[in-house]
Amino acid sequence: MTAMEFALGASILIAAFGLAIGSFLNVVAYRVPLGLSVVNPPSSCPGCHAPIEARDNIPLVSWIVLRGRCRHCAEPISPRYLVVEAITGALFVAVAVAFLPGVLAAASVPAAISGGLALVAFLYLAAISVALSAIDIDVHKLPNRIVLPSYAVGGVLLAAAALVTGDPVALARAAAGAGILVAFYLVLALIRPGGMGMGDVKLAGVLGLYLGFLGWGQLVVGTMGAFVLGGLFGIAVLVARRGRRGTGIPFGPWMFAGAWVGIFAGEQLSRTYLTAVGLS
Ligand SMILES: [Zn+2]
Repeated sequence: MTAMEFALGASILIAAFGLAIGSFLNVVAYRVPLGLSVVNPPSSCPGCHAPIEARDNIPLVSWIVLRGRCRHCAEPISPRYLVVEAITGALFVAVAVAFLPGVLAAASVPAAISGGLALVAFLYLAAISVALSAIDIDVHKLPNRIVLPSYAVGGVLLAAAALVTGDPVALARAAAGAGILVAFYLVLALIRPGGMGMGDVKLAGVLGLYLGFLGWGQLVVGTMGAFVLGGLFGIAVLVARRGRRGTGIPFGPWMFAGAWVGIFAGEQLSRTYLTAVGLS
């Protein structure tokens, strides 16, 4: 098997895994705001309450085969389900493309374990990015039930990844990143109570943990990215509505979008910027 074949096979597997996780995230996004269990009962059609059969629960495929309608009562199934699955699949592949080569090319066993732990940590971040963005768009909330355990999941995985290779600096930077972003968002929430909520403040700590683990450039770009992307979108909406202000768009999805720009391109962008202004 060539490296190319291996990479292709791994990408297909990870895409399929991402689609399956995306299917579960649809359940999470629907049930968590309602305070329901995400495992029980099994999914059923909201129209006729018929249980969703296994053959109708295949990510992407089932929705397309059924042309977006329930097999039993023909109630339309929102294309949102399809979008959530597709975005999760794409994000999982992007994470694998960014982190897997480092694991495969690791010079030592601890380095490979460290890379593997980081890969799992960032796949987890991808999953909560999709679920929390969907929930924030729906109900303008970032539930504690997902955000707070993420400190533990991300913290343990990233701490293990840093310590297995004897890199306490990455761990200290992650902790500092979490603290800095919580403080920064807390100030914003206090200055403009209508703009940021405490949900955003709590989420900021999780993102600071991840971005700080990667580096200072990623932390700065990942944080600023949220405001740049959210700001550009806000301007586009204002222009489209000819200056009429619409209902508030939640900031959580922009925090995630900015963080992913920081994760994938933060090092490159910060280095380019520093070179351009003559600081490096
Ligand atoms: Zn139905």
